[in-house]
Amino acid sequence: QAEELTYFRGLEAVTLDGHRVVLRSNIEIAEEVPIALREGAQGVGLFRTEFLYMKRNHVPSEEEQLSAYRQIIESMAPHPVTIRTLDVGGDKLVSGIDLSDEANPAMGLRAIRFSLKEKNLFKVQLRAILRASAFGNARILFPMITGVAEIKSCKCLLQEIRQELVAEGHAFDPDIEIGIMIETPAAALVTELLAREVDFLSVGTNDLIQYCLAVDRGNEHVAYLFEPLHPAILRTLRMICDAAKQAGVMVGICGEMAGDPLYALVLLGLGFDEWSMNAPYISQVKRIIRQVHRPEAERLVEELFELGSAPEAARRLAGEMNKRF
Ligand code: PEP
Ligand code: MG
Repeated sequence: QAEELTYFRGLEAVTLDGHRVVLRSNIEIAEEVPIALREGAQGVGLFRTEFLYMKRNHVPSEEEQLSAYRQIIESMAPHPVTIRTLDVGGDKLVSGIDLSDEANPAMGLRAIRFSLKEKNLFKVQLRAILRASAFGNARILFPMITGVAEIKSCKCLLQEIRQELVAEGHAFDPDIEIGIMIETPAAALVTELLAREVDFLSVGTNDLIQYCLAVDRGNEHVAYLFEPLHPAILRTLRMICDAAKQAGVMVGICGEMAGDPLYALVLLGLGFDEWSMNAPYISQVKRIIRQVHRPEAERLVEELFELGSAPEAARRLAGEMNKRF
């Protein structure tokens, strides 16, 4: 089957009735770029920059970050590289940054909250991303957004940095796209308000499921409750997609759910435009997309909506997958 899958690498992710989706790669280090390209990724949908801050005893300087981002952006061009700003805290620890002890780190000072508090660190990263944007197609992605105010603060800071860079004579892409992760229930509920502020949305199902179902994503004792097909999750995903469509803003998905071939029909039916996953899954997901009509996937989602629990939905979906693939 591995042989057969290589066949899909050069093909588009298009359904039998001509509906196209974009499949991109999640990466954590530059070494993954050649793999992403080999697997036919149309760019990077999620670059988790935490890894730049690991295995060292200082936070990376602007020049260090610039060179890392530039290398990835250049090798991916003309495809976009979506650089997510530091998502530290919660389950993600990095060296060089001491987080205070928190009783509930997942609900504490993590991701964008940390960045907006430690503005000097944040500015170094934003300057590096903007400067790297001169070398290809970069996009900025902000993690753990819960409301419009956070986006406004980020945009304000970006504006300040643009002026600094102009004054210093540094080049950057003036039209760089700005996006946010939809990974908190609050963001899902106000997607329509957030969408007005940004160029694209990317759903982080790992955190969205954790926060919606109140299930610690890293706790083995409740792992059985981490259910992507839970009726609450299906409804939340549909709400996000519908709000994004209404606002005319591109909506992607970059949580682990995007790379699991089992969910491909569901994501297609819900209407995600851009799926980002670990590169080795791209061919498997594409293979499924290329063998269905979009309305069939939409009908399946309607059926799943009628079911009362994740196991029922999983059985229905597995039945459909076994029949077809
Ligand atoms: C997510 O939460 O789904 C996501 C993609 O981000 P991370 O797994 O890095 O938190
Ligand atoms: Mg997340």
